[in-house]
Amino acid sequence: MTRRNRFGPMTTAIHAGEGPDPATGASAPPIHMSSTYVTENVAGFSAHDLEEGSGFLYSRWGNPTVTMLEAKLAALQGTEACLCTASGMAAATAIFLTFLSAGDHCVVSDVSYAGVAELARDTLRRLGIEVSIVNMADLDAVAAAIRPNTRLIHTETPVNPIGRLTDLAAVAAIARESGALLSCDATFASPIGMDAAGLGVDLVMHSTTKYAGGHGDAVGGAICGSRELVERMRLEAGIHHGGILSPFNAWLIARGLATLPLRMKAHEAGARAVAEWLETHPRVTRVIWPGLASHPQHDLARRQMSNMGGMIAFQVGDAATGEALAQRMIKRLKVIHYAVSLGHHRSLIFWMGTEGLMETSFRLEGAQLAAYRDWAGDGIFRLSVGLEDADDLIADLERALA
Ligand SMILES: *Cc1c(COP(=O)(O)O)cnc(C)c1O
Repeated sequence: MTRRNRFGPMTTAIHAGEGPDPATGASAPPIHMSSTYVTENVAGFSAHDLEEGSGFLYSRWGNPTVTMLEAKLAALQGTEACLCTASGMAAATAIFLTFLSAGDHCVVSDVSYAGVAELARDTLRRLGIEVSIVNMADLDAVAAAIRPNTRLIHTETPVNPIGRLTDLAAVAAIARESGALLSCDATFASPIGMDAAGLGVDLVMHSTTKYAGGHGDAVGGAICGSRELVERMRLEAGIHHGGILSPFNAWLIARGLATLPLRMKAHEAGARAVAEWLETHPRVTRVIWPGLASHPQHDLARRQMSNMGGMIAFQVGDAATGEALAQRMIKRLKVIHYAVSLGHHRSLIFWMGTEGLMETSFRLEGAQLAAYRDWAGDGIFRLSVGLEDADDLIADLERALA
């Protein structure tokens, strides 16, 4: 359900969803913190009584500042509608718990954000939902996993943390043929780095904590899609499960989004400089960034992504070497923060050992474990290249790697 915009991405990022405040003429949008709204509507108190245009009633149902952000995100992602949630995990939960019921089957990427992997493997199965864990880069495996009761395919591209891609157009064809919905966690790509909806994805999910907000100061999530699917999630996940975004965070994320197209260009340029430098460093054994010609799916990246993002994964040898370097980084890095999360203006780096990740989150075995190790070896550093000068980031890494 792609909606083409009249404006370019920079104009859209700044103006979509907002306008001068009708009450005051304020050029910047206000923050509406009100939890409730004075109404002349004597309708019922059920989510099912909500109608389009019925106005604001209570902020769990809808809030003007959150609505502004939803309009901005939908415009940037090229979809009819958007639901904002309290976090990226709340967005994933909204998808799973709105579109899956006991007895249904879903296919989930075998490498997903760790919280999503654990949610799918533990919580969904506890609720009687069948889950197949599949390497989404293997299209035959995706097709083979489909069952008569498959309702949802959930993928992530580029995947956190190893930067492996899913061919969205190809998986969308499998989903369409089987009658399943396709959702994609596009957090690494950002809302403007990849036209996921145009490639056939029904539900484009983001942790807006990352690139969308972009400043590391607001946790949030979002799902972009058709109005019908988004409104079903709003009723279930927003109004009933209650994982709504606070207006204050919505305002911060909207403010961040205004500069997203500019920031993504800078993230990409910085990542290119750092990735190319890492590839020449003698202690670095493998660098993964979709924009590098050495990325195994570089052609797919060029086809599918309009911006390669700022997320780099690199290896330095075995686990002991990686852990020792992580310790040195904690002491020696002056610019890059040793911390989880990503997509912020500050560069962030974190060591992710394969053994630990397998024990706690992914629990892959056999061919799937081998495929993961193919990318990650004994472990990777996940580097989120921020907006600092690339020379300073390189000097910082040089100090740690020396
Ligand atoms: C961070 C992240 C999430 C979870 O988002 P939160 O806002 O931390 O709940 C989900 N998916 C990906 C790819 C992420 O990087």
